[in-house]
Amino acid sequence: MKSWQEWRIETIVDRLLQGGPVCRHAADYILGHDVRIGFARQSTGGRWTLGGDIELNPEYCSPATDPEGAQLLGLVVHEAAHLEQGAALALSVAGEVLGWKAEYAARSELRAPLTNPHWRTIVRILDPPSDHDLRLARAEMLKVAGRRYLIWLLPLRPNFWTRWVERFQPLAARRKHRA
Ligand SMILES: [Zn+2]
Repeated sequence: MKSWQEWRIETIVDRLLQGGPVCRHAADYILGHDVRIGFARQSTGGRWTLGGDIELNPEYCSPATDPEGAQLLGLVVHEAAHLEQGAALALSVAGEVLGWKAEYAARSELRAPLTNPHWRTIVRILDPPSDHDLRLARAEMLKVAGRRYLIWLLPLRPNFWTRWVERFQPLAARRKHRA
């Protein structure tokens, strides 16, 4: 991981607070849990860390990018949703469906809607999803993001291993605050 850059987080939060309920919810979570937003090279647009932070792909949104850009804000809302879920759900296809839904809703609230038809299929999935829904969502996500998106490695729902990872989250978060 690259060194942390506390990067205009106030600007990001301020802009989210001006959005609708999904954006405001993410902003409240970020403020309430001391989530840091930094940059790290990766195969996707953004990711969450076990320590409770968000890392964005500098190829998608560099420090020179406008922090009010809807793409960046949508990614932040998506990753904040995963942090709020906890690792057990976030490391499953069911968790991803909720993350994609949050990003889609945020983009609508920010008046920069996502129009890709695969997105629409994913966000129409009802809650709670069936196994068939989750397989369909995974196939659609791969059409949007490609094989570099490692969704095909994840279980459909939380399982023994994803719950096992979640047990380490409080420890990782405490380490962050000591650092
Ligand atoms: Zn995700």
